Amino acid sequence: MTDQVVEIEGRTFDSLDPRTGTVLASYPIDGETEVRAAVERARSAARWWDVQGFTGRKRWLLEFKSAIAKDAKSLADVIAAESGKPAEDAMLEIMLGVEHIDWAARNAEKVLKQRKVSSGLISANQQAFVGYRPFGVVGVIGPWNYPLYTPMGSIAYSLAAGNTVVFKPSELTPGVGVWLAEKWNSLAAAHPVFQTVTGDGSTGTALCTSGVDKIAFTGSTATAKKVMATCAASLTPLVAECGGKDAMLVGADADIDAAVEFATFGAMGNAGQTCAGVERIYVAAPVYDAFVNKLTTSVKALKPGGAATSSYGPMTLGKQSEIVRSQIEDALAKGGRAVLGGLESLHGPYIDPVILTDVPEDSTAITEETFGPTVVVNKVRDLDEGIERANASSYGLGASVFTKDTAAGRRAAAKLDCGVVTVNSVLGFAGIPALPFGGTGDSGFGRIHGADGLREFSTVKSLTVQKFAAPLNLLTMQRKARDLKISALMLKLRHGRS
Ligand code: NDP
Repeated sequence: MTDQVVEIEGRTFDSLDPRTGTVLASYPIDGETEVRAAVERARSAARWWDVQGFTGRKRWLLEFKSAIAKDAKSLADVIAAESGKPAEDAMLEIMLGVEHIDWAARNAEKVLKQRKVSSGLISANQQAFVGYRPFGVVGVIGPWNYPLYTPMGSIAYSLAAGNTVVFKPSELTPGVGVWLAEKWNSLAAAHPVFQTVTGDGSTGTALCTSGVDKIAFTGSTATAKKVMATCAASLTPLVAECGGKDAMLVGADADIDAAVEFATFGAMGNAGQTCAGVERIYVAAPVYDAFVNKLTTSVKALKPGGAATSSYGPMTLGKQSEIVRSQIEDALAKGGRAVLGGLESLHGPYIDPVILTDVPEDSTAITEETFGPTVVVNKVRDLDEGIERANASSYGLGASVFTKDTAAGRRAAAKLDCGVVTVNSVLGFAGIPALPFGGTGDSGFGRIHGADGLREFSTVKSLTVQKFAAPLNLLTMQRKARDLKISALMLKLRHGRS
């Protein structure tokens, strides 16, 4: 992605404040040579990191966490300046990111230490164990929308699992990555366990081909396909956290005021630039009009702008406004209605909130990720029809269900094709580090966060230890007829009965 606001000159590029266009800082565009050198340094540091063991790594990661938390204000300033989001939102992002470092550090040993498993009847002479080893060096490629929280889901879990990390932040938010690397260096500069390389997409490609042992990618589905193609050449494994088109379902019995409050936050927070933000709302017919009226009142009160107290900031990636514009145009041309805002809502880097209703399901506002402060609210018969429409998407990141009957909410959740469902909240999972996060379909594959997130950055190693010779020895070229006969009998007795 090369946005019109990023000027790339020679081997450096500028990071800009999207609110004003002011140049914040200049960074190198790291090429193959620089990226490979970083990966080599990370590989040397991996040996030291391995020797630390779970206990030592936990101590270092908790120190890293404290150092970030102590200096959170300066990190929030960098996030706010580079993304344009209000300082409060930047601080919330840091709080969530730090929670993940804490959880990953404290739980890595419990999740990843070698464990005994049953060796089963026919191998009772063996002891069996499952263990986890780090991959080595993990390359993390991050997006700009939550430049700290999102990549931290890969960085913290990779490090806690014993890998070292080379991080390539988005070209729109390089300063966040550089800040983090400097923070690590302030603790242990001699051990480059965590490093940042800066640049554009070419730097990301260089990281994929640098010999790293795994790539953790977060970004758009289109870029994920390119990254996967690059990684295929070296069989480098990949976890891909991509975009979404999350639906909110509102049942006839829902608490409408609560649903409206969450819809306002989920659809408009961070200017709609949230991978698991609410982009489609399907409301049961009996409460549809009341919901639309209340949502309109709630959303109308939002004040986007560049101040610390604004409801949300500008579009961080300027060209995203054109996608929002084309989706509004398409929805209106196909018979949808704008009940709040419309094309006139786009001004400069800001977009005032837009609510679209009665939007045909083949409109791009329904089928494509919007990533802007617009939301579609369509009427459905009931939760079941809402589930059907939610599942008709090629994306499968998250969904939310609003109903006072939480058992019905859980039944609906089971039928939704996606990686995470929240009942009676939106984005409620973000503050629960134990919950794995990731999607299906165009939203990607693999998981960050939680125990599955730790295992995502580990290779599995199985082990058997023979305690005594097998009474029935079939693993020999000199099998005895008696052993075969007894084994065949056991086969029938154990598995042949219906
Ligand atoms: P992009 O796909 O444009 O970029 C993501 C990262 O990939 C950036 O660091 C980018 O670098 C880099 N990149 C670009 N081209 C290549 C390439 N050929 N090889 C390797 N790396 C490359 O995504 P955005 O930054 O625009 O982020 C927004 C997207 O991220 C949305 O679709 C959003 O839904 C998704 N997202 C998903 C999340 C999830 O957890 N599922 C969380 C947050 C966001 P550069 O920016 O320098 O071009």
